[in-house]
Amino acid sequence: MISPAIVNLIYLLSATLFIMGLKGLSHPKSAVRGNLLGAIGMFLAVIVTLVDKQIITYDLIIIGILTGSIIGTVFALTIKMTAMPQMVGLFNGLGGGASLLVAGAVLLEAALLQKGPGLQFTIATCASGLIGAVTLTGSFIAFGKLQGLVTEKPVRYKGEQIVKVLLLLASIYVSVLIVLNPHITMYYWILTGIAGLLGIFLVLAIGGADMPIVIALLNSYSGLAAAATGFVLSNYVLIIAGSLVGASGIILTKIMCKAMNRSLANVLFGGVGAVLEKADESDIYEGKITSTSAEEVAMLLESSRKVAFVPGYGMAVAHAQGMVRALSEELEKNGVEVSFGIHPVAGRMPGHMNVLLAEENVPYDKLLELDIINPRFKDMDVVIVLGANDVVNPVARKENNPISGMPILNVDQAGTVIVIKRSLSPGFAGISNPLFAADNTLMFFGDGRAKMEELVKAYKEL
Ligand code: NDP
Repeated sequence: MISPAIVNLIYLLSATLFIMGLKGLSHPKSAVRGNLLGAIGMFLAVIVTLVDKQIITYDLIIIGILTGSIIGTVFALTIKMTAMPQMVGLFNGLGGGASLLVAGAVLLEAALLQKGPGLQFTIATCASGLIGAVTLTGSFIAFGKLQGLVTEKPVRYKGEQIVKVLLLLASIYVSVLIVLNPHITMYYWILTGIAGLLGIFLVLAIGGADMPIVIALLNSYSGLAAAATGFVLSNYVLIIAGSLVGASGIILTKIMCKAMNRSLANVLFGGVGAVLEKADESDIYEGKITSTSAEEVAMLLESSRKVAFVPGYGMAVAHAQGMVRALSEELEKNGVEVSFGIHPVAGRMPGHMNVLLAEENVPYDKLLELDIINPRFKDMDVVIVLGANDVVNPVARKENNPISGMPILNVDQAGTVIVIKRSLSPGFAGISNPLFAADNTLMFFGDGRAKMEELVKAYKEL
């Protein structure tokens, strides 16, 4: 057992490392160091907690650590980069689940030892149970939606808001019962059951292009649940770490809301994304699609001065980022000005495109956000849209469709738009894209990587 002053000092050091880690994560160049600092902070916190508390037996803890490490390692080694978003979603959920179980265990201990827990303890336990359960089940539904196991579309029905409000009121009512009768631990499990249902209904009702907002929000919830458990255990480092996750998750949620031009209330209760466009695909595409070849695109590029790449989820699926860099370097060798238009919700997780391109050493200052690149598209000779769909869909400028109001990358204003994808299938939001049928669009059909390889070869051979 070490002195409380030393324990708190090391907790303070851990918290400082977390904050420095977060700062490092704000830029790709410092992200790896930031990650390492955060991991060292967590390692210190875990070791000190293990040494500090009077642990009766380490057996179960060691089994837990080993089991978790094996599962984590298998996931880390086998998971595909494209499945990362659902993985992150799942981890958020498990964080919420862990928080609610720890808080429940402490409540059970207090009941068994017939301790009279204080108000802070019981209120924090209820907060942990409620938020933890919403995070757990909500994240599982989000995982299912991203994995294609649950419908990606928002599930909407009559009286849906009433159901959610009733579940919330029931959760609050049971929380009051727990505060008044902390020794009846059954109430706690009833609370987690009701809150779990609330999590399911909350996330089922959201879908399509609004999913990034939900994932960011669940990330924030997992932090809040951990912070609440920190209050249950009176553990400072857990309170600080949980608050950091909660706050950064809320900031990310705000960024995502801005990217989608939605208010949070609108996403949670408004049913955005519910109105599905009934337009017949044949009306939009028939007779209006122009296919192209690598040679034709290479010739267009040869006479271009300004070229932009707009990557999307398909680039991640096809692992085409390396080829994107290769072509961009070839273009630059010939004096072409190259930039990359990055939409905040492109791909399947925040920063998805930035990470993939940064891994290929594409200079960060060439990755331009919406506000910066949009006014420049009209001066671009060619824009290559690689596996992006929703983020360039002009339908967003119209009313009554799942992406109405979402700011898009205005690639249609460029001289020529080359769209590389395998078919005319819709993107995540499930709607057709009139960009593919536009007069200045050429469709270069096929797998993103294969087509980019062909293009690099054709351009070099000119
Ligand atoms: P989309 O999901 O709109 O479109 C991706 C396109 O990639 C598809 O149309 C598909 O067409 C094509 N594609 C798939 N595989 C390949 C391949 N091997 N080679 C070439 N093309 C391929 O992607 P966007 O990036 O434009 O938009 C992201 C969407 O995901 C938005 O609706 C966003 O809201 C949502 N979302 C984003 C999250 C985030 O945090 N960023 C999280 C959850 C959802 P085809 O099959 O014809 O090849």
